[in-house]
Amino acid sequence: MEKESAVLLLFTGGTISMSEDPATGALRPIDFDRLQEYLPELKQTGVRVKSIPFLPLVDSSDIQPDTWEKIALTIQENYDDFDGFVVLHGTDTMAHTASALSFMFENLSKPVILTGAQLPIGMMRSDAKENLLTSIEIASAKENGHAIVPEVCIFFEDTLFRGNRTTKKNAEHFSAFNSYNYPPLAKAGVHIKFFRSYIHYPELGTKLRVRTKIDQNIVILKLFPGITHLTVHTILNIPGLKAVILESFGAGNAPRHAWFYNELKNATERGILIVNKSQCSTGTVEMGRYETSLNLMNAGLISGYDCTTEAIVAKLMYLLGEYESLDEVKHKLSISMCGEMTIS
Ligand code: ASP
Repeated sequence: MEKESAVLLLFTGGTISMSEDPATGALRPIDFDRLQEYLPELKQTGVRVKSIPFLPLVDSSDIQPDTWEKIALTIQENYDDFDGFVVLHGTDTMAHTASALSFMFENLSKPVILTGAQLPIGMMRSDAKENLLTSIEIASAKENGHAIVPEVCIFFEDTLFRGNRTTKKNAEHFSAFNSYNYPPLAKAGVHIKFFRSYIHYPELGTKLRVRTKIDQNIVILKLFPGITHLTVHTILNIPGLKAVILESFGAGNAPRHAWFYNELKNATERGILIVNKSQCSTGTVEMGRYETSLNLMNAGLISGYDCTTEAIVAKLMYLLGEYESLDEVKHKLSISMCGEMTIS
């Protein structure tokens, strides 16, 4: 007889676990025990489910890298006892957490599924139950004794996405996420349909490694027509700054002013890493395609290809935390480490 599947739920908070404050009408986290009252269906899943709340439950805007570390270490400690893991998380920074976890886990062979909801679990039309119950099903799904999706993913509404490819796209609709540059890993309708050719499988027999060191000395510099020299200079000279995500136009383009080039070149010569990320959600950076991006290449910028900003934030923090050698960090930025980008 097949062994009963087991899934560990980690509750961090988010709308899924909130209720309305009667006095102000604002949403705030409820007691963890009340959340369990709303989920009698958990007993019917046929899966042994254990829950660990990270108290106090928080809105995901309050989540910091120390929570990424806590999630990663909790999964590591419980890795052998469960078939998969579901992380209940607010939607606002879910894509950041999913991206960070994807870098922290090496040789992951079990599913880590992040999910949440747009409406609190106690509300009539809430999307919470479906999101959670389907995530549990995906986290426990196996074939020939192996997990069907051994990746860090986000499941929302009816779609399973690779976590480090995902962006929150809508603050209102139940379909809150998209993965603009990578196809879904599964669709949940009457049946859950897995698209196996898009799923990454680790080499058999490799052992999970978890690395959680983070360096937060990075910044995002978003270009707009009219950005001043003083603004760019001030940002690139923040004390202790180690890396910049330059959010450029179109296929990775930027103004050709001499001062702009000189500021970037000066920063890269001081050892600051600058990753070129397009402000477009879909498509890729192609440095050198237009004259307006040749300068960026000559100034020493690194292409972010089709990576999301969320994934580059997590990748930079992870690499700067884990590796001392700048060359090593640069090399790892130029390759796809866990399916986060397509190199064209
Ligand atoms: N503000 C909430 C959060 O991210 C939104 C949500 O959960 O959907 O925690």
